[in-house]
Amino acid sequence: HLYKATQGDVKTLDSADMIFYNGVHLEGKMTGIFEMMSKDKPTIAVTEAFKENQLRKVSASEHDPHVWFDVKLWIVAAEAVEKELIANDPDHEAEFRENYEEYALQLEELDKYVQYEINKIPKDQRVLVTAHDAFGYYGQSYGLDVRGLQGINTLSEYGSKDVTDMRNYLVKNKIKAIFIESSVPRKAIEAVIQGAGKQGHNVEIGGELFSDAMGEKGTEEGTYIGMVRHNTDTIVRALK
Ligand SMILES: [Zn+2]
Repeated sequence: HLYKATQGDVKTLDSADMIFYNGVHLEGKMTGIFEMMSKDKPTIAVTEAFKENQLRKVSASEHDPHVWFDVKLWIVAAEAVEKELIANDPDHEAEFRENYEEYALQLEELDKYVQYEINKIPKDQRVLVTAHDAFGYYGQSYGLDVRGLQGINTLSEYGSKDVTDMRNYLVKNKIKAIFIESSVPRKAIEAVIQGAGKQGHNVEIGGELFSDAMGEKGTEEGTYIGMVRHNTDTIVRALK
C-alpha cells in the first residue's frame, strides 16, 4: 500500500518486456510509474480480468485488493497472465498454455488443502484476528470470521478505541490466538494481548502470517504456494 519504487525498481521495470501487477489500488504509490510504463510496453493489472462481483466491496467506492488469498481467484489471475503472454508473444503459445495448465492444477490442489485444513478448527474458533484486514478473501472463501485492527490498508493508524474494541471482542468470544503479520509492526497486536491479559483472558500470538509480502527468495514461503501453506498451517496449529 505504501511502497514507493526505488530507482533500482524503475530500472528493472524499464528493462522488462511486460509488467504484471495486482491492481485494485494495492500498489497505491506506484500508479504513476505503471501509467508511464504502459506507454512503452504491455503493463497489466491482473485483477482487470475479474468480474465486479468477484471483488470484495469494503465501501461504496473501495474494493479489497488482497485477492490472492482466495486461491480460486488467483487461478483467474494466472489465466489472465497466460492470455496476455500469448497475445504478446504468440510464438510461445504452446509453452504458455502448458505452464498455465500445470500451475492451475497445483493451485486447485492448494485450494483443496486450505479448505481441508481449516475444517479441522472447531467452528466457534474459526476467527482470524490480525493487525490489518488482509485476509477478507481468505475468510470469505474458507469460512473464517476475519477481524483486522487496522483496516484494509496499512495507511490508517489504529487508535486506542480499536485496541479496546479488539480486546473486548477477544475476551467475550474466548479467542485463543491472534496473529502478527510480516509486513505490519507488531506493537498494535501486543497492546491488545496485554489488555486482554489484564482482564484475565490469556491470548497467545499464534505466529507470523505473510500478508502483503512473501517470504525470502529461495525459501518455501518465498513462493505463492509455500506462503499460503505456511499461513494455513500457522492458523490451524494455533486455533485447533
Ligand atoms: Zn494489505
